[in-house]
Parts: sequence; structure tokens; C-alpha cells
Amino acid sequence: MTSAIGRQTETDRGHTAAGFDVLAVRSDFPILQTTVNGKPLIYLDSAATAQTPSAVIDAVVRYYNNDNANIHRGVHTLSVRATNMYESARAKAAALIGAKRPEEMIFVRSATEAINLVAQTYARDHIKPGDEVLVSEMEHHSNIVPWQLLCEQTGAVLRVAPMNDAGELRLDEYEHLLGARTKIVAVTQVSNALGTINPICDITRMAHEHGACVVVDGAQAVPHIKVDVCELDADFYAFSSHKFFGPTGVGMLYGKFDLLNSMSPYQGGGEMIRSVTFEKTTYNDVPHKFEAGTPNIAGGVGLGAAIDYVNGLGIEAIVAYEDDLLDYATQALLATPKVTLVGTAAQKAGVLSFNVDGVHPHDVGTMLDQDGIAIRTGHHCAQPVMDHFGIPATCRASLAFYNTRAEIDALVVSLRKVQEVFA
Ligand code: PMP
Repeated sequence: MTSAIGRQTETDRGHTAAGFDVLAVRSDFPILQTTVNGKPLIYLDSAATAQTPSAVIDAVVRYYNNDNANIHRGVHTLSVRATNMYESARAKAAALIGAKRPEEMIFVRSATEAINLVAQTYARDHIKPGDEVLVSEMEHHSNIVPWQLLCEQTGAVLRVAPMNDAGELRLDEYEHLLGARTKIVAVTQVSNALGTINPICDITRMAHEHGACVVVDGAQAVPHIKVDVCELDADFYAFSSHKFFGPTGVGMLYGKFDLLNSMSPYQGGGEMIRSVTFEKTTYNDVPHKFEAGTPNIAGGVGLGAAIDYVNGLGIEAIVAYEDDLLDYATQALLATPKVTLVGTAAQKAGVLSFNVDGVHPHDVGTMLDQDGIAIRTGHHCAQPVMDHFGIPATCRASLAFYNTRAEIDALVVSLRKVQEVFA
């Protein structure tokens, strides 16, 4: 087996010297040492699910070996230990995104569930027929469909803020769409299909001037840029553990404390109550009010370990490294004949969507897989983005801090092979 660690260019070595030791980082990820179809794995699908370092895998195994018990309910040692570990992960998640207090962080199953929770609690309580929900043209389906369901349930109207052909939101149009009827503004911080970083501070300022509540989808932002929910002034902020190098099945919803405190519960069950009688049930305090039933405890512990791992690398170092790699990859794809980039915003993170002239994205993806290269092909759960560009699908190479310039070079070589086959 050719070790993926051996795949480095002079510039990769330069980064090692400059302080971000990508080769050492790669050795933290067991899966990056494996082969696919006899080739060293080149994983360029982190926007779908990021890979998991040993530190996270070990934390989950340690938890099951030593601490496994149900949380919040037991006086016995294991239960107390599991509770402390889970609650410590909550506190780490709060610190990660600059929340003022851990109680502002609700454990959910995923970013998708976080957005659905807001739609079915805060929004459902506040929306009346004729009110408006403003989404953008570049949202992931999970930041469109929950709002469509809400509109169907309440008689509210869905409005859509457009983007330009670079894949940037048109803020002038955004402003026009905001009005007294706008109750919810739902927007992604980073587009999963295009990589665009949206100006969330401008959007929250405009939305708040009109009295709207802002729900930010941070699924693609938290792994790539420094997030501070207070600076952004987001009312709600959602992200997923599995895109942040943690386990699947866990996500976090941030909400401003007063909003959370005033909201109806989401699901009913154990843990979210203070007392239950057949006549009247009262609810637990925030955040437990929103956490019915036994959660994914090991997943939460794993997310805590992922946060520790990323903090250990340093988000500033990650951002600098990834910016450089994105730039390198963009130039490399621009220089590859018959490859067209989709999404050329001035501010981008982590994602390269592209098409190869005359070749269906699925064929590109299948051929790259033969070379051990994992990219995603399809509409990326963002069909309105595809509609904007008049295409059914794109190829998407998405980056993380463990990718290298050598891997981008290998991608380009493989793409040239695809072109030869389909010439
Ligand atoms: N929003 C964005 C921008 C995403 O990229 C994704 C996942 N592709 C989601 C939301 C949904 O995340 P999850 O599937 O983890 O709920």
C-alpha cells in the first residue's frame, strides 16, 4: 500500500514548515491511511461528512468501555460521569461558537433537526397567515423544506432572496424582500453547493431592523471559519457534529437564551418535563425542555472530543491552511481544459463545484473513484442552486484541513483521464 502520507509536494512540505503540519494531522485520521480500489484514499467529500480523528474514535470507545450510563437521572457513579461528560461537551460547543452560556446549546440529531425544531416551536408560535419567511436561493433543502412545511401549516408565505451568477447573495434584493411581514430569515453561512460565505452580519442587521428572527445554517461554516454567534447576532444557529470531525447522529442548535426560554417545547417525553400529571404537565428548564428522551450520549462525548481536537490545531491555522488550499485548487481547476467552476464568489470556503464538458457528473465521480478519489456528484440537496445555473448536477470536491496540494494534483490528473476517455 502506498501511504497517503507519502503523497506530498514541495508546497505541502512548505506548510509543514510554516506551522501547520498537514502530514502529522493526516496521521491522526486512520481512514486517510487506507486504500480504495487499490489506490490511496483521496477524500474530497468532507462537506457531506468529514473524517474522524483517532482522538474522537478513542473518546467514544473509552466512553463505552468505562462510563456508559444514562444521563441526568442516576445518582450512581457511571451516570454522574456520563452526565458530566455530556454536559462538558455542551459547554465546549458553546465556547466553540461564542455562545454566552451552555444552556443556549441544545443537543439535536443534526443541523436538519435543529432547523426543524425552530420551525416547529419558535416559528410556529409566532407566524400568522400572510406572514413571510425569507430563505435564499442557495439554501440546502434542510433550510427550505422545514419552512415550506411551516408555511403550509400556518398560511405563511415563503419568499426567496436571489443570488448572482457567481453564487453571491444580492443584498440589494435581500433588503427589498424584507418588510413588516417578514418574521423569519433563514440563511446559510456557507453554501454546501457553491462554497460561498454569506455576509451574515449584514443580513442579521437588516433583518432585525424589520423585526425578523434570523436562523443561520452553520453546517458548512463551523468546520471552516471562526464563528461567533454574538458577533453575527444570530437568533438561532445550527450545525452538525459529523461535518465537524465528530460522530454522526448529533447536532447542535444555538438559540439566544430569552428566545429559548419563551419557546414551546419540541417533542414530548422523558427529561423535558419538570412534573407530569394527567391534568397538567410542566416543563424542564432550557436546554432540557428541548431534549426529550435519551440522547446520543456517546455522540455528544465524541463531538466534545472533536472540538478539543480542532481547538488543538487552532481555527486560525486551519483557516489559513484551507484558504491557501482552496486557492491552489481553484487555480488548478481553472487551468484544466473543459472544466467549468460553478460558484465563483469572492468569499468562499471549502467547496469546489465544477462540471466537465460533455461528461455527466456521475460518470466523473465513478471514474475518479477508480483512482481512489472520493468526490460528490448530484444536486447536493440544493436543487434551486442547480436550477439557477440551468444544470441538473455538479461534481463537488470539498476540502478539509487534512487535504493536500498533492491530492489536488491527483484530482487534476484523474480529471484529464476522464476527458480522454470521453473525448
Ligand atoms: N445545511 C447545509 C449547508 C448542509 O451542507 C447540510 C448537509 N449537507 C445540512 C444543512 C444538513 O446537515 P445534516 O444532514 O447533518 O442534518
